[in-house]
Amino acid sequence: MDPLDLQTSRYARQMRFAPLGVEGQRKLLTSRALVVGCGALGSVIANTLARAGVGKLRIVDRDFLELNNLQRQVLYDEDDVAAGLPKAIAAKNRLDRINSTIEIDAVVADVDHTNIERLLNGVDCLVDGTDNFETRFLLNDAAVKTSTPWVYGGCIGAEGQTLTILPGQTPCLRCLMPEPPPPGTTPTCDSAGILGTVIGVVASMESNEALKILSGNSESISRTWTILDLWDNTVRQIKLASARTSDCPCCGRREFNWLAGERGSHTAVLCGRNAVQLSFPGRPAVALEQLETKLAAVGQVSRNKYLVRASVGPYNITVFPDGRAVIGGTEDIAEARSVYAKYVGN
Ligand SMILES: [Zn+2]
Repeated sequence: MDPLDLQTSRYARQMRFAPLGVEGQRKLLTSRALVVGCGALGSVIANTLARAGVGKLRIVDRDFLELNNLQRQVLYDEDDVAAGLPKAIAAKNRLDRINSTIEIDAVVADVDHTNIERLLNGVDCLVDGTDNFETRFLLNDAAVKTSTPWVYGGCIGAEGQTLTILPGQTPCLRCLMPEPPPPGTTPTCDSAGILGTVIGVVASMESNEALKILSGNSESISRTWTILDLWDNTVRQIKLASARTSDCPCCGRREFNWLAGERGSHTAVLCGRNAVQLSFPGRPAVALEQLETKLAAVGQVSRNKYLVRASVGPYNITVFPDGRAVIGGTEDIAEARSVYAKYVGN
């Protein structure tokens, strides 16, 4: 069956949308996208791009499914949770049933400076489904270095934001935010909660931008940084025409600190202790009092002037003022990083 036939194609309705058209669909079918993170944002993005006929979709995720994911992670169901599947695998199983005519490449991995360039190889657009700034700064470095368009998105509570970056043309993430927020200072979805509704909105906006890029409609991408709050009913759109500067360490001076491994986490399994140590050289200091307050919302916490210690579910989390953390209860580095991102945040 001809996927470009306006009568019989599964894509008929979107080909009738004039700005996309048959030509746009033809480009989508031969395009390749990378979705990093297949949790809440990522599962909506992967679902949308697969249904729209993006020819090759690579999805990467480091995490496993838990029951509390189902409220917002729309690709998964109770059977997936019972099976204890990695999200990337459960996502591929579902997406293959939704659209068997495209290629889905599922990768179970923690995206870091050692693998991101390989994952990006041959990709036309990168879409952010992550939940932490450390990975986003790495994605920004890799996308700018390889001139790959990328779409940033993030959500917390009922708030969300998104930004599309065309390297060399529009401001990059680091033009707007020279440094990631210090660990422990930003809410995470485990401390502040998250509504499925805002995920749907922001992930759909990200997917829409990706479809413009992949269908050859880059001139229609958003040139604003969009920040919305579905509970307070507010939308802010910040024009970025002059935000790109030659001073930007990333897109101006082309210093790719995260990609070089100079920034970002350094990890080690602590032998015989059932624990993993995570350290973050070059990071600003952690405010232990603030972190204590945040962790108190999710578990048993104690603090002295040297550290904050929290017991959350099966994990014992210890955080030092320099950001170094020991995650007890696991010897799996990806799991420890996931626990850190969830409860300490970055
Ligand atoms: Zn920049």
